[in-house]
Amino acid sequence: MIGKKIVIAHRGASGYLPEHSLAAKAMAFAMGADYLEQDLVMTRDDRLLVLHDRFLDRVTDVADRFAGRQRSDGRFHAVDFSLAEIRELRMMERFEVRDGIRRAVYPERFPMGRSTFGVHTFEEEIELVQGLERSVGRKAGIYPEIKSPGYYHREGKDIARAALEILRRYGYTAKEDRVYFQCFYPAELRRVHDELLPEMGMDIKSVQLIAYTGWKETIRYDGKEEINLDYDWMFEPGAMKTIAGYADAIGPHYTMLIEGMIEAVVAVANHIVAEAHDEGLEVHPFTFRKEKSEMPVYADGSFERFLDIFYNHIGVDGLFTDFPDMAVKFLKETG
Ligand code: CA
Repeated sequence: MIGKKIVIAHRGASGYLPEHSLAAKAMAFAMGADYLEQDLVMTRDDRLLVLHDRFLDRVTDVADRFAGRQRSDGRFHAVDFSLAEIRELRMMERFEVRDGIRRAVYPERFPMGRSTFGVHTFEEEIELVQGLERSVGRKAGIYPEIKSPGYYHREGKDIARAALEILRRYGYTAKEDRVYFQCFYPAELRRVHDELLPEMGMDIKSVQLIAYTGWKETIRYDGKEEINLDYDWMFEPGAMKTIAGYADAIGPHYTMLIEGMIEAVVAVANHIVAEAHDEGLEVHPFTFRKEKSEMPVYADGSFERFLDIFYNHIGVDGLFTDFPDMAVKFLKETG
């Protein structure tokens, strides 16, 4: 373990309120989360939104309000809309569309379409966090992720630079500042480390997120061709040394830290946490949810057991959870 173990509010207190709403962020702050997560995507007019998908159609009413504005893939891309247009949308609990019917992804959570929520910018979220730090008298960190940098490069946009400019403007510039900058795409994180941060006079902590290659998380654009990025090398011995050359932490899926990974029925650590710690990397796995269907068999249906396995037995330094209150309580009670 490298320092005090931390709780990262995944998309805010998203177990209780629509993900990435300002309400969910205020709730996570009040619950005592150490860090609040922001996923960042871009608008047509180069503004950064706090939104998980680069599409608007799974958390807003965009399909009703702007019918016909979808691309040939059927999706409403945030990058095709101005911030002014996006401000007209109602945001709600995440849903799926099957047979033309919208169904909440987590039916037990906040009722879909109730109350009023909207999409906000990265600046507005930082101002919320810094405002609460002042009014409450407690510090909390921010944990921004730039989504799909390759896609934005193809759209003629530089999402990494745009995000870093905002961080600099709001005073997040040094390693000791309360910010982790996360991304899946290793080439972009290397560019941030090797070029952008030195050029901008910044030196903040960064996090290499780890995907399974099969997720098709990261598409590289080679001219016209789309290439699915291979993450397999990150599971090989020695990979953590490579990552430590440009990042301060890793953000793996929790199954990646266990022998047998997704198939595991008992929780035995594989080499990754030990190797990461040997290289000075912190380990912050995602995503810890209390719904039974979202927990591995070795948690025995207990969210506390799930947290205990990873915080205390696997030895992670922090974790992303939709239920920050429960992780804060767990750490307080178990010291
Ligand atoms: Ca994220």
